[in-house]
Amino acid sequence: MSGRRENFPARFRGAVFLDRDGTIIEEVNYLSRLDQLRLLDGAGPAIARLNRLKLPVIVVSNQSGIARGYFDEEFVRRSHRRLQELLRPYGARIDDFFFCPHHPDHGQPPYRRVCDCRKPAPGLLLQAAAARHGLDLEKSFVVGDKACDLELAARVGARGILVLTGYGAETAAAAAKNHLAPAFTGPGLAEAVAWISSEMAEINRESQRR
Ligand SMILES: [Mg+2]
Ligand SMILES: [Zn+2]
Repeated sequence: MSGRRENFPARFRGAVFLDRDGTIIEEVNYLSRLDQLRLLDGAGPAIARLNRLKLPVIVVSNQSGIARGYFDEEFVRRSHRRLQELLRPYGARIDDFFFCPHHPDHGQPPYRRVCDCRKPAPGLLLQAAAARHGLDLEKSFVVGDKACDLELAARVGARGILVLTGYGAETAAAAAKNHLAPAFTGPGLAEAVAWISSEMAEINRESQRR
């Protein structure tokens, strides 16, 4: 481990899980061409800020368009490479990507099935935790624009953050009914990351007191 974590105690083991569509990039309903991939305002600098905080930035995404036959897994991987290219001018990068290709009742097997990774099921977070030794989901953040993102956070004890981009405004309107109160709601990723930064400082103070 380099000395670059000195701003935060080594015991801070949280990560930031970001939904992709409607949170980092424009929601276009089943993105199936690379030219549809556009960063939302402020997303590049926000992710660069997370990188500077030395927080792992991990994309977790439901991609049932694969099960539905709209595109294949290779396209999703290509879209992630394109996303990294768009982030590079901001000095920003995603550390890892996990996606669910399944749907319980659309398409054909093997993609048509009840799985443990379609959000809000926690499978993608568990995969990420398995891939990163010591990652603490209870010290982590999940940022997204849909109820499934907030429910995902609740299921693993992470802090759920709602952004009002994508479907976020509709989700906010329905959130009270669904009893899915986010820990924080912000207009977009920039405000979400500002909140994460202050919350992280608080989490660190708590663990130093113990
Ligand atoms: Mg979304
Ligand atoms: Zn799945």
